[in-house]
Amino acid sequence: MNLLNFIAQFPDEESCKLKFKEIRDIIGVFCPKCKGFEHYWKKDKWQYECKKCKTRVTLRSGTAMQSSKLPLRYWFVAIHLLTSTKKSFSALEVQRQLGHNRYEPVWAMLHKLREVMGQRDGKYELSGEIELDDGFFSTETIEEEKDKPLKCGRGSQKKTKVLVMAESKEIEGETSKNGKTPKVGYIKMKVIEDLKAETITPIVNDNVSEKSILLTDNSNSYTDLKDIVLEHKAQIIPKEKIEEMLPWVHIAISNAKRMLLDIHHDIKPEFLQNYLNEYCYKFNRRYYGEALFDRLLKACVTNEN
Ligand SMILES: [Zn+2]
Repeated sequence: MNLLNFIAQFPDEESCKLKFKEIRDIIGVFCPKCKGFEHYWKKDKWQYECKKCKTRVTLRSGTAMQSSKLPLRYWFVAIHLLTSTKKSFSALEVQRQLGHNRYEPVWAMLHKLREVMGQRDGKYELSGEIELDDGFFSTETIEEEKDKPLKCGRGSQKKTKVLVMAESKEIEGETSKNGKTPKVGYIKMKVIEDLKAETITPIVNDNVSEKSILLTDNSNSYTDLKDIVLEHKAQIIPKEKIEEMLPWVHIAISNAKRMLLDIHHDIKPEFLQNYLNEYCYKFNRRYYGEALFDRLLKACVTNEN
């Protein structure tokens, strides 16, 4: 959806509320008290009333917008901005575009959207052949660690560890330029505490199908993976060959890093996952085009608080 279409479709708060209600009506409203699904619409109050127990809920309750006081149109603008670019927008930029006087609610809105993206992608597990590796993302030094001397390279206090998984599919009858690189399917990125096998194995277990084939280097971090998937191909990969042998995880890592560097600076480690959620969500839906706006809006309505 281009900007003119967006403005034409959502010229005011009313049009956004009507669209939001349309989606809620399709998805269904869930009574928080009796779990009933049938509601009357109280037009004068803009509330739903449970047919069984008469409990009333607002248009926003039970959605990602529940605890936000910002107009729905702000949310719509934010969803439009985030879904209309492969890149991203900083909270400061969105605040400027909205002309809103406070930074915090805009920042919270964007992070809520990124959480919703993460929840949505959390519903899918990767399958088939999957490349897996870890990456180190620069993040702001944690306050209490600022006084300590910084260690260099891997494990430095300014790096946060991320486990990256990418479905890597050989497409029959198709070869790329160098005849090697298979096509990429869905990807996932998960912030991890450390590289211990007992940390990594359960995360992989939660995110990939047990029928999948995992491709990794022969790091000790991955020794238990053979127990949770159909096949684990651990190979000795020299450092200079890693981008050739696990191409998609490394393309994803460098693209995500570039996005973070360009748009968001000084990310606190605890928020890195949210930014990665946004990167993966959009990467996984890169062919959706204009439909992405509606998809994310629907995901906000079905959000699990
Ligand atoms: Zn009820």
